[in-house]
Amino acid sequence: MGDVYVIAEPKTTSVPVARNDARFPVRRVYCVGRNYAAHAREMGHDPDREPPFFFSKPADALVESGRTLTFPTMTDDLHHEIELVVAIGVGGSDIPVARALDHVYGYAVGLDMTKRDLQAEAKKLGRPWDLSKGFDESAPCGPIRPASEIGHPDRGIIRLEVNCEERQTGDLSQQIWSVPEVISHLSRYVRLEAGDLIMTGTPAGVTKVSPGDQLVGTVEGVGEVRVTYRSA
Ligand code: MN
Repeated sequence: MGDVYVIAEPKTTSVPVARNDARFPVRRVYCVGRNYAAHAREMGHDPDREPPFFFSKPADALVESGRTLTFPTMTDDLHHEIELVVAIGVGGSDIPVARALDHVYGYAVGLDMTKRDLQAEAKKLGRPWDLSKGFDESAPCGPIRPASEIGHPDRGIIRLEVNCEERQTGDLSQQIWSVPEVISHLSRYVRLEAGDLIMTGTPAGVTKVSPGDQLVGTVEGVGEVRVTYRSA
């Protein structure tokens, strides 16, 4: 018998799996910073291969593709970051690069929505990024495609359009740290478990989002994510 709780049990966040009625339940959402050289440069950093760094978002920051979102509070500079999302299907720690892909269930296209003004202030003051990165509905995510169907994409166009105009474009092959390397590094800090998602960084071209904007992100061979922000 399950535990009895003193309040209603919080909902388990989950993401649809393409062409499957069953869903992927989400445990944690990890994100990689500055994983494309051109984006590192546009943010004022030298993209030499420093070790990858990570931050996280709450699982319930996830929001399904196709939704209309309320424009977030406490920002005047909301940015989009289109990212390849890795869905972990088998847990592990200290995972070697050569075995890392054995831990992957599948892939999706996600958005690491960022309050750039709050993030810049946090960087300047040496404060945490949490509220600039992990706010409500900050992680729109498209349906997961199982690796058993699409393989493990390591090249292919990643792009984002806002109101049908291209804003971000790149190729998965431009990732500084590959998916197996990201999994291996992260698993040295934390034990990964089935249900974890990893957002693997964004290519260049991040720009400001306004109320009423429609965002459509695609990764070749993986799929898409789309959300619209409600007009002010
Ligand atoms: Mn990001």
